[in-house]
Amino acid sequence: LRDRLKDPSLLREHCYIEGAWVGTPVHPVNNPATGAALAKVPQMTAADAAHAVEAAQRAFPAWAKFTAKQRSNILRKWFELIIANRDDLALILTSEQGKPLAEALGEVDIGGAYVEFFAEEARRVYGETIPAQRPDARLLAIKQPIGVCGAITPWNFPSSMITRKVSPALAAGCTVVLKPANETPLSALALAVLAEKAGAPKGVFNIITGDAPPIGKVLCEHPAVRFVGFTGSTEVGKILYRQASVGVKKLGLELGGNAPFVVFDDADIDAAVEGAMVSKYRNMGQTCVCANRLYAQDGIYDQFVEKLSKKVAAMKVGDGTEQGVTQGPLINMDAIDKVERHIANAVKGGAKIVIGGKRHALGGTFFEPTVLANVAPDALVSQEETFGPMAPVFRFKDEADVIAMCNNSPFGLASYFYSRDLGRVWRVAEALESGMVGVNTGLITTEVAPFGGVKESGLGREGSHHGIEEYVEIKYVMMAGI
Ligand code: ADP
Repeated sequence: LRDRLKDPSLLREHCYIEGAWVGTPVHPVNNPATGAALAKVPQMTAADAAHAVEAAQRAFPAWAKFTAKQRSNILRKWFELIIANRDDLALILTSEQGKPLAEALGEVDIGGAYVEFFAEEARRVYGETIPAQRPDARLLAIKQPIGVCGAITPWNFPSSMITRKVSPALAAGCTVVLKPANETPLSALALAVLAEKAGAPKGVFNIITGDAPPIGKVLCEHPAVRFVGFTGSTEVGKILYRQASVGVKKLGLELGGNAPFVVFDDADIDAAVEGAMVSKYRNMGQTCVCANRLYAQDGIYDQFVEKLSKKVAAMKVGDGTEQGVTQGPLINMDAIDKVERHIANAVKGGAKIVIGGKRHALGGTFFEPTVLANVAPDALVSQEETFGPMAPVFRFKDEADVIAMCNNSPFGLASYFYSRDLGRVWRVAEALESGMVGVNTGLITTEVAPFGGVKESGLGREGSHHGIEEYVEIKYVMMAGI
């Protein structure tokens, strides 16, 4: 990998604490497409995590005192360096994660867009003045950075999940200790190289790699940490929620979803098929906002399944760095097992495999993009997130039925539907129990909008001006005796 980078210094095998590259590289990072070893990273301990938190604590007072414009300028520079190095960052990303290079470039761009956006927002963290309740007093609410933040990120977006947390934190005046996913630490370390070049002072942004549970415990329980931002599974999110309760830390949680994708009879079917393709098969189905359950209405059911299957049949599976590949490998064997389990369960309940349905001839963790029809309403996939390239298409009769089915889930991250009836668009958008709704689109993520879930899908929002609010505390000041 190093030989293929324009700037080989972006490939790092050490952790980044207080401006120094530290630790002994021992934990291998492998390419999921080939199994080849890419690099090694350190296996840090709870004591190292505490050390990193204390480094962030030392850096905090000075960073919080930077003017908003000074912080903004550093973030702006970081954004420019990310874009200038996008080819290298994308190649590192695809090599460690597997997604096609075009998607990796897209991720680097949106990851950079978060940094650009929060460089701008840094200067707009306004407070309030409040009409007082007595004549001799003046009241105001000021906003101050919350303090040291922990961040724990997943492997499915190794680059953008980092900037989406770190850039609003830094913009607000907080300092950060990040633990990236063990499968994909190299993108995170490369971003730290660029943050350092952009002028982020030492200790402001720190990265540790290693065994997640002990490090996570320190990030949740160390007295200096005031906020923990996490993207990952609901199961781990609940562990962090419990741990953070001990010290009453503020949490941001972006957890699992089980997104419904509904196509009504009145929809533009070709547009719905396009939307389903991006929503379902992006990153091989491994995103928390991927369509997990597709519901097509009686009148257009057969047409939708047929058109979708045709598109799916045309996808090219392979190593993400190869030209024309649209589906890379899944992240590991567990991911394959889960897709197989969901397919077997649906087929047992009467579903028909229209296309795909099994491991790909390429072997490894490659899986055939799959479409299932006539899936029974109670199939396992209606309740669990597949996180793989499998589209189960359920049939429904009317609007009320499908809304009930969509909402019959403990999760509520994203939902999607296609309809051209304006009244229906409003009714359904309002009725769906999810933090985000895509109407006539399968792709909703943007740095300018609030990303997040309801129910067991999480707490808080990332992106938009709401995203920076997570990283500030409101302090109310009463001045009396005036
Ligand atoms: P996934 O199933 O997508 O891998 P996880 O929730 O297991 O999702 O992982 C998301 C992130 O959480 C990764 O960085 C992982 O290392 C980390 N993680 C896993 N278990 C724990 C834990 N007990 N405490 C803190 N972080 C954890």
